[in-house]
Amino acid sequence: MVSSKKVCVVGAGISGLACARELRREGHDVTVMEQSSSVGGQWLYDPRTDSGDPLGVAGVHSSIYSSVRLLSPREVTGISDFPFYPKNGGDDARRYPWHGEFLRYIRDFSDAFRLTNAVRLNTRVVHVGMALPAGGGVSNSLRWVVRCARAGEVVTEEEVFDAVVVAAGQYTKPRLPTINGMGNWRRRQLHSHSYRVPDSFHQEVVVVVGCHESGKDIALELREVAREVHISVKSIEDVSPGMSKEVSRHNNLHLHPEIDCLCEDGRVVFADGSCVIADAIIYCTGYSYWFPFLDTAGVVNIDDNSVCPLFEHTFPPALAPTLSFVGVAKRVIVPRFYEMQARWVAQVLSGRRVLPSKEEMMRSIEEHNRRATETAGVPNRLTKNVTFNLDYCDEFGEKHCGFPRLEEWKKELIWSSFARLRDCPESFRDDYVDSDVVREGLRSEGWLVETPRVEADGQEDEPHSHRAHQMPI
Ligand SMILES: Cc1cc2nc3c(=O)[nH]c(=O)nc-3n(C[C@H](O)[C@H](O)[C@H](O)COP(=O)(O)OP(=O)(O)OC[C@H]3O[C@@H](n4cnc5c(N)ncnc54)[C@H](O)[C@@H]3O)c2cc1C
Repeated sequence: MVSSKKVCVVGAGISGLACARELRREGHDVTVMEQSSSVGGQWLYDPRTDSGDPLGVAGVHSSIYSSVRLLSPREVTGISDFPFYPKNGGDDARRYPWHGEFLRYIRDFSDAFRLTNAVRLNTRVVHVGMALPAGGGVSNSLRWVVRCARAGEVVTEEEVFDAVVVAAGQYTKPRLPTINGMGNWRRRQLHSHSYRVPDSFHQEVVVVVGCHESGKDIALELREVAREVHISVKSIEDVSPGMSKEVSRHNNLHLHPEIDCLCEDGRVVFADGSCVIADAIIYCTGYSYWFPFLDTAGVVNIDDNSVCPLFEHTFPPALAPTLSFVGVAKRVIVPRFYEMQARWVAQVLSGRRVLPSKEEMMRSIEEHNRRATETAGVPNRLTKNVTFNLDYCDEFGEKHCGFPRLEEWKKELIWSSFARLRDCPESFRDDYVDSDVVREGLRSEGWLVETPRVEADGQEDEPHSHRAHQMPI
């Protein structure tokens, strides 16, 4: 029998909103707690830069900097049945739009599915803990106490829910390296979480640590204003072929090995003995999972930067199905994967789907971790990565919630865009050519519009296609 539950979702980013929609569709009573004053999560750009604590978190959730444009093509970035089409007369119709365009899309999604009335804004969850049944012990009837603080109020409110879905994001708590001398280096040090605009680095010598997506983007942006930009990488394998090309093309961009130590006189000494005197260091070294409100009595651990144990990145076996996580998997197609997780959680809570036994779930987690560690030499902190395995995403959706497989043309678009990102980090967003398969797919879903070509004599020629909304093909 399908049953309805009272569910609390923590966070009103795209994951939390996807959860709200799926939970409601399945007949549950949903409340989404959101600490910010609006929905949108990361995409709610916050000009504040954690100035009180540039290496940590001083209450700012978003890590989006002013110039961020999407890394993923808009055609594969939306919720499955609510395409991220440019809006008529909208601000940014490009394939890789500016961050504000994605925020606009998330708000439209929330409005279109009337989710706003499920969201309590300005409400920070400060505690989620087990409401143990009389007699103690964890059982299927396990419920959760959720304590919230409303902005500007001292007292907290407490409520009991049948289930909690944690959709609080994963790009807020800076992960920092440990470097000799870091504490005594008196010049500017910040994490990319606190980077917003390049202006204040004008004519400076800047060291960017890390060369993944943010590191590349920030280094390329800074090279236009800074005197010198020095990129420090753990391993030369971290540097994509395209980024190596950029370094050789621009004479103020330089590549170095890991930092060995920082000296009080401003020197940054690299592992090969070379050094520069720098004005600033920006750590583009990623993020740690962080759920300070969650008390599971040690059942769920944030261990070596993974949330574990989680069955299929979603359910901790001992607390399933009443506690779940949506949005902690990395290198999956988002928000599509998070939407699938949301549907699965909603269906498991209603009883439409049944989870394997706790023992089977634990075995599956151990097997996943063993395979990840053995086959790829992947450290534990990366076992949440399913390394863009599109087949895994398809299988996940099909197996757990009857989600349709991703169309082949979209897979081709994803792979070609990642190849371009790797090879041409500076131009991939504006300079690309689609294959016939992709063009046909785009046309079939209304991304390309057919317009009659008007000849010089004013006569209409045969219809021809062009990229919707003036996007150059
Ligand atoms: C620089 C950058 C670029 C990116 N580029 C892309 C891209 O091109 N394409 C892409 O698909 N993804 C990109 N991402 C990833 C992006 O984070 C995801 O697309 C998406 O935002 C994840 O949504 P989410 O809802 O899981 O998390 P979030 O968007 O982080 O939302 C989590 C929400 O939870 C709330 N919350 C957290 N703790 C609490 C609490 N205690 N109480 C109440 N509310 C709480 C937060 O305020 C927030 O609103 C990028 C991320 C960054 C940082």
